Amino acid sequence: MISAKEIIGLIDSPSREDILLVESAYEFAEKAHERHERFSGEPYFIHLTETAKILAEYGMSATTIAAGLLHDSIEDTEVTEEMLKEKFGPEILFLIDGVTKLGQLKYRGSDRHNESLRKLFVAMSEDIRVLMIKLADRLHNMRTLFHVPKEKQKRIAAETLEIYAPIAYRLGIRKLSRELEDLAFPYVYPAEAKRLKELTRERYDKNLEGLEKFLKSVKKALAKEGITKVRTEYRVKGLYSLHKKLLIKKKDPDQVFDVLALRIIVPQITDCYQILGIIHGIWRPLPGRIKDYIAFPKPNGYQALQTTVFTGDGSIVEVQIKTEEMHRHAEYGIASHMSYKLGNVAGKVPESLQWIKHLLPKQLSKDTASVTSKTFSKNKDVPQWIKEIVEHHNIEDDNEKFREGLRSDFFEHRIFVFSPKGDVVDLPRASTPVDFAYSIHSDIGNHMAGAKVNGKLVSLDTALHNGDIVDITTKTGAKPSTKWLEYAKTTSAKHKIRSAVHKRENKKN
Ligand code: MN
Repeated sequence: MISAKEIIGLIDSPSREDILLVESAYEFAEKAHERHERFSGEPYFIHLTETAKILAEYGMSATTIAAGLLHDSIEDTEVTEEMLKEKFGPEILFLIDGVTKLGQLKYRGSDRHNESLRKLFVAMSEDIRVLMIKLADRLHNMRTLFHVPKEKQKRIAAETLEIYAPIAYRLGIRKLSRELEDLAFPYVYPAEAKRLKELTRERYDKNLEGLEKFLKSVKKALAKEGITKVRTEYRVKGLYSLHKKLLIKKKDPDQVFDVLALRIIVPQITDCYQILGIIHGIWRPLPGRIKDYIAFPKPNGYQALQTTVFTGDGSIVEVQIKTEEMHRHAEYGIASHMSYKLGNVAGKVPESLQWIKHLLPKQLSKDTASVTSKTFSKNKDVPQWIKEIVEHHNIEDDNEKFREGLRSDFFEHRIFVFSPKGDVVDLPRASTPVDFAYSIHSDIGNHMAGAKVNGKLVSLDTALHNGDIVDITTKTGAKPSTKWLEYAKTTSAKHKIRSAVHKRENKKN
């Protein structure tokens, strides 16, 4: 079991307050989940310490880590919101509530609605810290999915692949997105995963020994030129991303060279070019495989020098050379070459990234009036790399549509509700069952007899909220009334009501 000390050890220069907070959340959670076990038979508390550890590794604050330790306490134990608020304050309660709310959203396995569900997920989280806790929670659940009953595994893994991993990716947290994908892949596509695993293992085993030898010679060659400040690592390509690559490019797996890649990470850009020169001076590069993504970054902002060389013992190795900042950017989605002034986050944020800015912690203004003057700890609570995402101008091409739907006004003006079958419908805020019915189909609107929200009968002018499940009852004889024009918020519903009423009156005459 991970100790509180270990978690605290991962926080960058924690204050006395931070230490006390994490310690008391740790004790509280341990007690609250005392008799509670996971599918594996292990104490449930392990899940909470692992989640907290992931959050700490991603540079999240003590507040977020504490909320991570407590994130299942409302749902799974006797602990009440009041108890949490009294002991840990409104901010931590807000984060736990957010995580609990997101837990109620379920992927129902229809591709058609994945994009809506992703948006709903982000919109409902309201705060990037809630999203991070949920992602860390999911990461640990995926690491231990093996213990979960078979029939649940596939749904959870598919949800991870379709919802969680893309959200992490769009936030620029590739490291997290990649791990989620590779954990989920074998559960969702067992045959493909098996095939690729065999294929890469074969290559891996064959290449690894050679790679280690190659790495030694590279280090020696660099040292000879006086370059000693290098960090190296090698990476096995993510199986799921390999799967996607093969699907998209219809490539022969034998053509994929970058199953294993060597990374050389250095302090300065000039070091990158010097090292490329040294390597090419010793090992012959494969033609057509030399890429200068430093001078010409990929559209997603990725930067590195890349080359593939013959190592001399019959194998080829892809080499990536980049600076520490470029590396962090690639893993965490940050543009570190941009200068960034602390506290300026709310200032000049490009419009295309308003949606992430919207997820930065905000002052708890309304709810705290009664709870002393305690407010959210504004932006100091968000790690630098998240702030830098906000500053970075072009995260990903495929983000375009996503952010279209997530502009800041989007959060204020749209809500997402479900049909009983799990279809997601997005509507303007304060929409009613009338809008919902007409957005499904005019026939349903025109024959609406009543509505249930979350299983309860409601009047047709009831304002709907994010995550509501709306069930419309229809009757053949039912007709729209002019009164509904007052209930409807969408122009399309109003339009359909008017035309139905007109038709009826024309018939009468
Ligand atoms: Mn959990």
